[in-house]
Amino acid sequence: MNHGKTCISVCAKTADELIERIKRAEDLADVIEIRFDCLNTNELDTALQKVDEIRCSKSFLATFRPKDVNAEVVFAYGAFEDKEQKQRIIESQNYRFSGWNKIIELENTEFLDFENDILLSLFISDSFGHSNHNSGFPFSIETCKKIKSKKIIASEHFFENIPSDLNEVYDNLKTEESDDLTTEVIKIAAQTTDITDTIPIWKLLERAKSENQQIIPIAMGESGKWTRILGLAHGAFMTYAALDTGQETAPGQVSARDLTEVYRAKNLNKETEVYGILGSNTRVSMSPYIHNAAFKHHNLNAVFVPLQVHDLDEFIKRMVKPETREVELNFKGFSVTIPHKQTIIKHLDFLDETAKNIGAVNTVKIVDGKLHGYNTDAQGFIEPLLNSYGDLRDAKVAVIGAGGAARACVYALKSQGARVTIFARDIAKAKNSAEEFEVELKELSTTNFSDFDVLVNTTPLGMKAKAEGETPATAEQLKGLHLVYDLVYIPFQTQLMNEADIAEIPKIGGLAMLIAQAMEQQKIWTGLDAPMKEMSRAALKKLS
Ligand code: NAP
Repeated sequence: MNHGKTCISVCAKTADELIERIKRAEDLADVIEIRFDCLNTNELDTALQKVDEIRCSKSFLATFRPKDVNAEVVFAYGAFEDKEQKQRIIESQNYRFSGWNKIIELENTEFLDFENDILLSLFISDSFGHSNHNSGFPFSIETCKKIKSKKIIASEHFFENIPSDLNEVYDNLKTEESDDLTTEVIKIAAQTTDITDTIPIWKLLERAKSENQQIIPIAMGESGKWTRILGLAHGAFMTYAALDTGQETAPGQVSARDLTEVYRAKNLNKETEVYGILGSNTRVSMSPYIHNAAFKHHNLNAVFVPLQVHDLDEFIKRMVKPETREVELNFKGFSVTIPHKQTIIKHLDFLDETAKNIGAVNTVKIVDGKLHGYNTDAQGFIEPLLNSYGDLRDAKVAVIGAGGAARACVYALKSQGARVTIFARDIAKAKNSAEEFEVELKELSTTNFSDFDVLVNTTPLGMKAKAEGETPATAEQLKGLHLVYDLVYIPFQTQLMNEADIAEIPKIGGLAMLIAQAMEQQKIWTGLDAPMKEMSRAALKKLS
């Protein structure tokens, strides 16, 4: 166990909803962040009363962010020329100060999250100067005394991008021992678009450690998700999680259940071996669920995280290669997906024969800083097919699509002696692959596949959020086939599989391949037999 805390951020429009969510958060959280700013303005007083009365075994953190303008702009409202705008900002800020004055009265909040405007107003107002306190400042001396009895999280949020000098932001939030008001924790959250954007945020952990300062560095966005998972292992004070998937209060937040049960964030430490899925869109990947189930089964100190990477060269240089990397994350391997399966090859120190023949790598194992590349797609694809169909020698197989997955399928089919025809919508694009593997190539149209034994779909047709409900072939076209194999696995039952049902033809869905190729990856990474039951169960749970 590390010493970090899991904080569930709770946001609701009404007081009743808020209380219901706080109660649900109690089981999984160490700290519950109550986002009072999410409430409808007419619900705030009721919510405060109900929070005051609630009995909860976990600490409360009160947060009340500015509603419509960022904190620094609000604080500088004096500079606004436009009268209406100025009035709106003054009203908004008055609501905020009056809200905070009531929140501070709550006995059961341990932490208060103050942004710059509140911190500045506390310092400037002379409220901590013990003398000559005038009205006109937002907090009375009594209120300031109460604030001193709480733990302050001084926070800054950058929703657009990362400021050029994060150390300056840190300096502004840090208080000195001589200050009347001391901030217990610094929180800096900034939006990232690519994974290397996270480096300066992550490096704040090193600085904070050397200064004995508690810190919560958050790289927002999918590319920064790994910082939320690994942060506690590297000394972050706390990590924020959503109560449920779909209730995230910031981009890239992981659900509390996933954080504790899938990623086991509080059990990780600096020695934890880190694996991850490398792709340009990792948001809906099943791989973290499948691989973490295997690590958990074997009780390994290992975790598998999403690594959303756009610029692969930069990622490898700045975060992976020992000679050039800027962070130490103990990476031990990657699962590689679209669009990096080919481009990763130039970064490898060793390339396995199968991967070389397919021309694509979906698995990287890191040994003593050297990158070894493999391809488990071919093996993962063929295993379920052999189990369902049997001997493939001379079987006539129609492969629809000619992308990366198709190359692995064609390679595996050819190795089993099958007679393959590729069907592609763009013949010119598919020509190279067909020639390389010496297979027939035809244009995908309204072809009837009755001359074939097996049909394999390697296109995204039918895939959720991309082409759901679409199919590369109708029941009529499928008639005469002995087996239909769809590589798409979300949804579990695709339209092509529906068509196979109508034509009464046996079918295999993409989940079988997904599990089989992941099991091969586990064997490469850990040398252990992969636990099929646990990995399948984890995938099915996520898909259902
Ligand atoms: P890819 O390299 O982008 O290739 C996609 C192929 O599908 C290309 O030939 C593309 O043709 C074709 N295509 C795309 N949209 C089409 C459409 N509307 N009509 C006809 N053809 C279309 O992707 P990939 O890596 O091969 O992956 C393809 C699919 O397989 C994805 O859905 C992926 O999730 C699935 N997959 C599943 C597993 C598993 O374990 N179950 C493993 C790997 C992949 P153009 O070249 O003309 O664009």
